[in-house]
Amino acid sequence: MKFLVHAFEAGSGLYLYDAVTNRIFPVNNRIFENIDNILFDVNASGTPSKKSSDYLEAFCQIKHSIDKKIIGTNKLNTMHYTFKANNYKRKLLDSIRMLILEVTEDCNLRCDYCIYSGNYKDYRCHGSNNMSMSTICSAMNFYKDHNTNVEQAVISFYGGEPFLHVEKVVNAIEYGHKIFDKPQHYRITTNGTLIDDNFIDWFIKQTDVSLSITFNGDKGYHDLFRHFRDNTSSYEIIIKNIEKIVSKSSAAYKNRVSFQCNYLDWQDISIINAAFSEHPLLKDKIPRSITSINKNLEIEFLDELRSRRNEFFKETASHPTTMDSLILAYINELKVDCDTVLTNIFNKVFLQIYGRPMYELKSSFCSINACEPLVNRLYINTEGAFNLCERVGSSNCFGNIHEGFNYSNISKMLYEFNEACKNRCINCWALRFCQVCYGNVLNNNSIDMNKLENFCAVMKKNVEFWLKKFCDFMLREGQLLKAYQHKLNLT
Ligand code: SF4
Ligand code: SF4
Repeated sequence: MKFLVHAFEAGSGLYLYDAVTNRIFPVNNRIFENIDNILFDVNASGTPSKKSSDYLEAFCQIKHSIDKKIIGTNKLNTMHYTFKANNYKRKLLDSIRMLILEVTEDCNLRCDYCIYSGNYKDYRCHGSNNMSMSTICSAMNFYKDHNTNVEQAVISFYGGEPFLHVEKVVNAIEYGHKIFDKPQHYRITTNGTLIDDNFIDWFIKQTDVSLSITFNGDKGYHDLFRHFRDNTSSYEIIIKNIEKIVSKSSAAYKNRVSFQCNYLDWQDISIINAAFSEHPLLKDKIPRSITSINKNLEIEFLDELRSRRNEFFKETASHPTTMDSLILAYINELKVDCDTVLTNIFNKVFLQIYGRPMYELKSSFCSINACEPLVNRLYINTEGAFNLCERVGSSNCFGNIHEGFNYSNISKMLYEFNEACKNRCINCWALRFCQVCYGNVLNNNSIDMNKLENFCAVMKKNVEFWLKKFCDFMLREGQLLKAYQHKLNLT
């Protein structure tokens, strides 16, 4: 008998999480201290190896929980992808959901944490390559031919900064309007500094085009990491450009302009939250995504960013807050049923734990939680080569717009990924919360076992952290979460 039990200590008490049944339950000190030995004994001989009364009592309680199937036995002996391999090739032919075009490698800003800043291993730096109009059209034709089984065409313009070549973006969208005979959605991911009147006049007429502006809300905090090459501020320019959009069409701003934010440390979310609660242009907006700055930065540089951030907080009236106060503020916001930066962030983690499917893993196989590479998103670089997505560093062996998919390299990558994960995941207590991204484990188109080790360590630490916070704060708040789960249709 094998088990997938993880014991953890939260502020509110001692708990066991069982990944086979997906249950969390409180336990006493005797069980908590002896759980590994007890499960070993149950597995090895079925009898207790220690004679102390504390151990015997704990052993009987755990044995009882196993007999009652509160703790399940781990029958897994293999993992497979969430998607079926046979089906995958067909999906590459007709079901690609999103096309991402790297319009240019260049950018007018030099954000410190940019993945193209040169401060990350395995990522290209800002370059001077731009996508030609003929490559753009070929890429869109390729996508059109490989998206026939999907109801909508979704095309995202990415960079660098796509507004450096806004005329190509506009031409591409007009080309898309001609070739697609289905609903389309175009998204331009931008730093927001180059949006001019001509573009806005065009944009407000295009109901299928949206802008996603990376903007960290608070002037000081935004400019700390997002600035021009000469370190000058980008905040004021972005605000002026947003004002221009609002003055020309508040409806276009309301419905088709969104924001994405990045933070260095969790506590900094309070700064972003305050900006999006108070600034007149932002207070009715909830950022589409709020993500942590990629911590795979070279370590010395990450330390430098941290010390700069700490200096900023010393000099400003804004102060970061603790995670616990953020969660308490989130609970208050759930009580008054409002959507904010905090609900956007915490709903994702707490609803995932609260709404976890409580069925027992009974079969011998289970799915690896990973996306369908190249089907979910097909990233095409300035030269027309395929990449998995914008989060994966340089990997250019999966085909190109002229020759199509390189099935042999795609299969090799998937095979290696499966081989690397299958034996480790069946013995991992975090498997029901884990979501693996190829970007976390690939290096030069192959699986890098060191990267995978690091990924697993961070994933398990994160899952444990959120299970603890869930037990400390959210176990009592089931009614609030149930209402939200229902509202978001996550039941
Ligand atoms: S705006 Fe985007 S691409 Fe440009 S430097 Fe900043 S993060 Fe990098
Ligand atoms: S943390 Fe690692 S071993 Fe555990 S499920 Fe995720 S990928 Fe597999």
